[in-house]
Amino acid sequence: MKLREISRILPATQTYEGDGMPVQRTFPTRSLDHIDPFLLLDHFGPQHVKPGEGKGVPPHPHRGFQTVTYMLSGEFEHRDSAGNHGILRAGDLQWMIAGDGVVHSEMPSMEFQKKGGTAEGFQLWVNLPAVDKRMPPKYQDIPSARIPETSPAPGCKVRVLAGTFAGLQGNVETRMPVLYLHITLDPNASLDIPVPAEWNAVSYVFRGALNAENRELHPDSLVLYKVGEGADTVRLTAGAGGDFLLIAGKPLNESVVRYGPFVMNTEAEIYEAMNDYRSGKLGHGL
Ligand code: MN
Repeated sequence: MKLREISRILPATQTYEGDGMPVQRTFPTRSLDHIDPFLLLDHFGPQHVKPGEGKGVPPHPHRGFQTVTYMLSGEFEHRDSAGNHGILRAGDLQWMIAGDGVVHSEMPSMEFQKKGGTAEGFQLWVNLPAVDKRMPPKYQDIPSARIPETSPAPGCKVRVLAGTFAGLQGNVETRMPVLYLHITLDPNASLDIPVPAEWNAVSYVFRGALNAENRELHPDSLVLYKVGEGADTVRLTAGAGGDFLLIAGKPLNESVVRYGPFVMNTEAEIYEAMNDYRSGKLGHGL
């Protein structure tokens, strides 16, 4: 076993999505475009919402990658051009392979709009290999009860959103090898996570504090780890205790050309996606 060293620590940037939903964006930013195969990580909320004032993202297209929503609190209602409809509640996961094209809306549910409450969660974009960028879209809705959970060491709780950890396998098809974990550590607890040495890996602190190489990291910090040299383990050590995401994946090493909601391999493919969307050939019908 060899521990991964930290290469960079980046604070998230405050911005807005959709119709005014506040998000902490870890990437893409000026200092980091993507972490192959991951294209975006947003932490939305925690936002205390009064009745009728919930924010979301009205209909918009995607092509060429996968959008992943993980809810901590609140309720989102999803509708898409492939006819899928679902409500995401606290602890639920939605893994959508946009592939050839989907138009979807991600809005607060009627129930949430009526009562108000706290909205919080994550959106992660995972790239698709060139061969899968135009595959038929696939919608995967995983309720909280179907997310495997384990306590591999004292003071540690791990939810396996995708990939394999401690013999547990997440319940989504991801098209490529990735690991996505929600980890809760008690004060001073520590956890070792095996991650293949050639995979890119990051952790994100969203509650409490993480102790990393004798530095204390506060919420909304993204930690990037060095790749290679046989370092096959990410060690998370809690200072005051807290909640973290661990996100890792095998790099695609393919060209990335992105324009808003389209992520392809060439500029010509981006123009094609824009034309297909304008002419109603990309995920029409929402
Ligand atoms: Mn979307």
